[in-house]
Amino acid sequence: MDILKEIERRSHEQVVFCSDKKSGLRAIIAIHNTALGPALGGARMWTYATDEEALIDALRLSRGMTYKAAVAGLNLGGGKAVILGDPNKDKTETLFRTYGRFVEGLGGRYITAEDVGTSVQDMEWVRMETKYVTGIDRALGGGGDPSPVTAIGVYYGMKACMHELTGSDSLKGKRIAVQGAGHVSSALCEHLAKEGAKLTISDRYEEKAKVLAERTRGTAVDAEKIFDVPADIFCPCALGAIINDETIPRLKAKIIAGGANNQLADEKKHGRMLIDRDILYAPDYAINGGGLMSVANELEGYPRERALKQAEGIYDTIRNIFAIAKAEKIAPSEASNHLAERRIGSITHIRNLYAGRSEFAGRLGDLDHVKG
Ligand code: NAD
Repeated sequence: MDILKEIERRSHEQVVFCSDKKSGLRAIIAIHNTALGPALGGARMWTYATDEEALIDALRLSRGMTYKAAVAGLNLGGGKAVILGDPNKDKTETLFRTYGRFVEGLGGRYITAEDVGTSVQDMEWVRMETKYVTGIDRALGGGGDPSPVTAIGVYYGMKACMHELTGSDSLKGKRIAVQGAGHVSSALCEHLAKEGAKLTISDRYEEKAKVLAERTRGTAVDAEKIFDVPADIFCPCALGAIINDETIPRLKAKIIAGGANNQLADEKKHGRMLIDRDILYAPDYAINGGGLMSVANELEGYPRERALKQAEGIYDTIRNIFAIAKAEKIAPSEASNHLAERRIGSITHIRNLYAGRSEFAGRLGDLDHVKG
C-alpha cells in the first residue's frame, strides 16, 4: 500500500503512527480535517488482521467524524485513533498512559474519547497524561454516558421525518420497529412510549428486548424478524450495514430513522435503492450527532442543558437535509454530505476574511476531492 498516496487521496491532514515497545502500544491517530476546530473522535481498540486494515479503519472513521461534527454545527474537526490489540486481554494502565502521551504530543490538534473496545476507565488513564480527552465519567466532572443525548437527537430527527411525510410531527399511535435494546434505544424508547408510539423491539439477546418492551408497553420480537414487522418507522439502534440488498426489499416502513452508525452497507447504492422504494432515510451521522454534542460540551465544562438543546436542533438539520435533497434531486445521504462540505467551506472562508486574507484559500480547497 502506498500510504502517503492513500492519505492524500482521502484528504487527510496528518496521520501519526505510534509505537512503544515497553508498553506494547501500537496505534494510529488519523486527523482528517481541522478547518472547523480540533479533530475529535474516539480511540477504537481492535484486533486488526493487518496494519493496513487498521490504517484504513482510522482513515475512514476520522473522515466520517469531520462530516458528523460539521453537520452537528460544532466547531470541531474529524479525527479518530485505533489501538491495535485485544480489548479483552491487552489493556493496561501503561498502555493507555503511553497513548495519552502521544495525544498530548499533538498539542490539542486531536482530542480523544472512548469508542468500541475502550471505556471510560481507560480514558481516565489517558487523562493522567493529557487534557485532550473527553467522555469522562460524570462523577469526575465529565458528561458521562452520551446515549441519552443521542436518543434526544434521534427522537427529534424522527419527528422531522414524520413531518416530511405527513405534515405533522406527532408520533402518537405510529408503529416503530426498533432494532437493538441497548443504551441509545432504551432512552429513545422511553420518549417514544411517552408520546404514545407503538413499539416492536428486538435484540440479539432476547431478554434485553423483553425487558425494554415491558417497560415501554411494547412487543418483543426475534432479532431476525425485525425487518419484516409492519411499521411506519424502522429504527436501527444496533449494528452498521443493516440497510442492504437483502433487507431493503423486506422493510415495510416508509421512514428509516435510528441511532446506529454506518447504517447503509453502500452509501450510494443503498441510498438510491431507498429512494426507488419511496423510503425516507434520515442520514445516520446527522440524526445520531447528539452523542458528539454531549462530548463536545464536556470540553466547555458540560452545560448539559446546552447539549440537550443542541440535540433538539437535529430536527431542523434533518428538515434542512430533506430540503436540499429535494431541491438538488439527490439522496438525503448525499444532501447531508453537501451540507457538511458547505459549512466547512463557508466557515473557512469567514476565518480567512478575519485573518485579513484577500482571497479565499480554503483549507479543503475544492471540496469535491473530499468525497472518496
Ligand atoms: P449498545 O451496545 O448499548 O446497544 C446495542 C444493542 O444492540 C445491544 O443490546 C446488542 O445486544 C444489540 N444487538 C447487537 N446485534 C444485534 C442484532 N443483530 N439484532 C438486534 N440487536 C443487536 O450500544 P449503543 O450505545 O446503544 O449504540 C447503538 C448504536 O448507536 C451503535 O451503532 C453505535 O455506534 C451508535 N451510536 C451510539 C451513540 C451513543 O451515544 N451511545 C452515539 C452515536 C451512535
